Amino acid sequence: MKRIYQDYHMHSSISPDSNTPMEEMCQAAIDKGFREIAITDHFEFYSTGIIGNRFNEAYLDEYFKIIYECKEKFDGRLIIKKGIELGQQHLQLEMSDRIVQSYKFDFVLGSVHKIKNVDLSQIMYNNSIIDIYCKRYLEQVYELVDKGDFDSLAHLDLIKRYASKRNVEVNLINYRIELAQIFDRLIERNKGLEINTSSLRQGLDEPFPSIPILKMYKSMGGEIITIGSDSHNPFDIGRDFDKVINILEEIGFRNIYTFDNRKNQRIEL
Ligand SMILES: [Zn+2]
Ligand SMILES: [Zn+2]
Repeated sequence: MKRIYQDYHMHSSISPDSNTPMEEMCQAAIDKGFREIAITDHFEFYSTGIIGNRFNEAYLDEYFKIIYECKEKFDGRLIIKKGIELGQQHLQLEMSDRIVQSYKFDFVLGSVHKIKNVDLSQIMYNNSIIDIYCKRYLEQVYELVDKGDFDSLAHLDLIKRYASKRNVEVNLINYRIELAQIFDRLIERNKGLEINTSSLRQGLDEPFPSIPILKMYKSMGGEIITIGSDSHNPFDIGRDFDKVINILEEIGFRNIYTFDNRKNQRIEL
């Protein structure tokens, strides 16, 4: 049976929203039969200064210290890629470019978690405002894709997670013009699209992004796909990857991609 041996989106306790030490995430990945992972701890950018912002160089230095320790400890048993999940790069491009260029990342995920400084999880969605927020969200994604220095666009469709918690339905495929602009630019810049399985364990029936959106990406010539569980604990590593294989094959994707020193490498499914 086919399976995916690479999980390219996970967090350790370096991230503010995980309690699992990186070493435990690595060991859990080995126990689950993974050959390669990218640790993609968070680093968020904001449109204005934030009091007590913990995302700074000391944070990154700590991340690199620990990941090098893990790489040494698990050498020969697990390939551990130095990744990062950069939120809203487009809001502080100069700082973001400086970080991406001065640290030796293998893989950079580009994410939109916020509209301005407001987290998508904090918005009081209802049916009368959802259209406005979908458009604002997609505007932010376009800004990121147009200008950000990243390798794969993370969890496109994320707004759906939080809207669904308030019983508001979101179907981003209805925003074809906006999505076409995003994919045109993503493909033009030779960047990838992530399939993120976190939605499947959170009560939604499709990954991020949804299958129609993945089909649209493919039909526009998109080929670079990365796969991530977005796990914040050992249990969620690689969850629902079996479902992703079927989805990819049905759409017609034949490969997924891994990264080394920011260069993509094709892996046949
Ligand atoms: Zn994220
Ligand atoms: Zn994440």
